[in-house]
Amino acid sequence: MKKNEISILGSGLIGSLMSIYLKKRGLDVQVYEKRADNRKVEYKEEGRSINMALSDRGWKALDKAGLRDKVLPLTIPMYGRKIHDEHGKTTFIPYGKEGQAIYSISRGRFNQLLVEEAEKLGVEVHFDHRVDEIDLRTNEILVTNPEGIQEKIPSNVIIGADGAYSALRNAMLKQVRFDYKQEYISHGYKELTIPATEAGEFAMDPNALHIWPRGSFMLIALPNPDKSFTCTLFLPFDGERVCFENIRDEKDLVGMFQTYFDDAFQLMPDLVGEYFRNHTSALINIECYPWMLKNAILIGDSSHAMVPFYGQGMNCGFEDCYVLDGLIEKLGTNVWELIFAKFQKMRKPNTDAISQLAMENFEEMRNEVADPKFLIRKKIETKLHELYPKDWIPLYTMVTFSDIPYSEAYAQGKLQKKIMDKVMSNPLITQNWNKLDYEDIVNQMDKAKAF
Ligand SMILES: Cc1cc2nc3c(=O)[nH]c(=O)nc-3n(C[C@H](O)[C@H](O)[C@H](O)COP(=O)(O)OP(=O)(O)OC[C@H]3O[C@@H](n4cnc5c(N)ncnc54)[C@H](O)[C@@H]3O)c2cc1C
Repeated sequence: MKKNEISILGSGLIGSLMSIYLKKRGLDVQVYEKRADNRKVEYKEEGRSINMALSDRGWKALDKAGLRDKVLPLTIPMYGRKIHDEHGKTTFIPYGKEGQAIYSISRGRFNQLLVEEAEKLGVEVHFDHRVDEIDLRTNEILVTNPEGIQEKIPSNVIIGADGAYSALRNAMLKQVRFDYKQEYISHGYKELTIPATEAGEFAMDPNALHIWPRGSFMLIALPNPDKSFTCTLFLPFDGERVCFENIRDEKDLVGMFQTYFDDAFQLMPDLVGEYFRNHTSALINIECYPWMLKNAILIGDSSHAMVPFYGQGMNCGFEDCYVLDGLIEKLGTNVWELIFAKFQKMRKPNTDAISQLAMENFEEMRNEVADPKFLIRKKIETKLHELYPKDWIPLYTMVTFSDIPYSEAYAQGKLQKKIMDKVMSNPLITQNWNKLDYEDIVNQMDKAKAF
């Protein structure tokens, strides 16, 4: 059997973009995908969000592949969070400077576009081909084809972009000194819909990410091009008064929505049907190391699946592709082991940092954003950034609107938090936040960085 030059496992967002980069470098690229081709059959996105937020790191990786102009028309910019309180009153908190936005995009449509672009370049995507096993000694993959027959495919390089339940990672797990940790958090999620109005318009402001923060739980909504919103309800599975386990019937559900999310409830005509039809999904965080063995490497969620609360899983996976392609550009296509060794060393501290930030941001989204002091804190940080654009870059801006390594953003964010906690402890802060000694605050940051 002919040996593949590059085999990519998974044609999700990350595998597809990686296949484009590699094909552009003149390599033969074969992709194996267990699902059917979603351009031919509609499949349910079980356990995966319907739409997602694309931000600067993702755009940078798409730019390198020349894809911005094709992706942009599929997106809707969201310039900030719109916070809904229990009485339906809303407050808008910008994400960054004027004009800075994150972009809502449908996962299914985005994935189709990337697969189409890969195929146009000559990448061969084998749908309905499930990878069952990988022999890491011989670099052969065992694939079940649509006829149910297993084929053994030898390969020079194997790239595992096969997501949180990766077959390549499973093979690596059998090696000695492979570290692996997975953690399901206490909360799960369910997707629901706010449809377009009868007049065919958006039922709420489409240029914001809507959040209904309620302490230990929350609802969010992102706009879709068909003028609907996809809402995601995050609740604990059990153990709290409001949790999935305690919503047994229509009465429980409607009661809960009327109490906590009444303005959204008024816009959800099929809430009951959707709630009991749609799957409740779990949220997992996965860390492992090393990511490579000889000519095989893990990228994207297969190496670092994270909880979705910073909206960075896909963006981080795209950054993986960008960094890996940069190393190939520099070192050529004959030294894969060296490239993979350098890649994992560069990326691991950064993916650890963003995974940790994603966990921590859950508390901010479901709880802190509801506190009026949160708005003041954001205003102070925005002003600091305006006055001292290089010396004070808010953490959210570093993560979302820059390519500062995640680990550096994490470290700076911790220093900023310490200083801001002190600033916010002033009992008169709500009245006098505009009259603070901003130079002194930024000097404290400079001093903290020096240590
Ligand atoms: C609720 C939720 C909301 C999110 N929101 C955002 C967001 O707003 N912004 C953001 O950046 N990220 C977000 N993410 C994270 C994002 O979805 C993931 O980080 C991203 O999809 C990872 O892409 P991937 O290609 O690595 O993995 P996946 O998307 O999981 O793709 C893996 C592919 O491999 C295939 N596959 C798996 N096993 C095999 C096998 N054995 N053989 C062959 N094929 C196989 C799968 O069918 C799939 O097509 C969110 C995640 C969740 C759960």
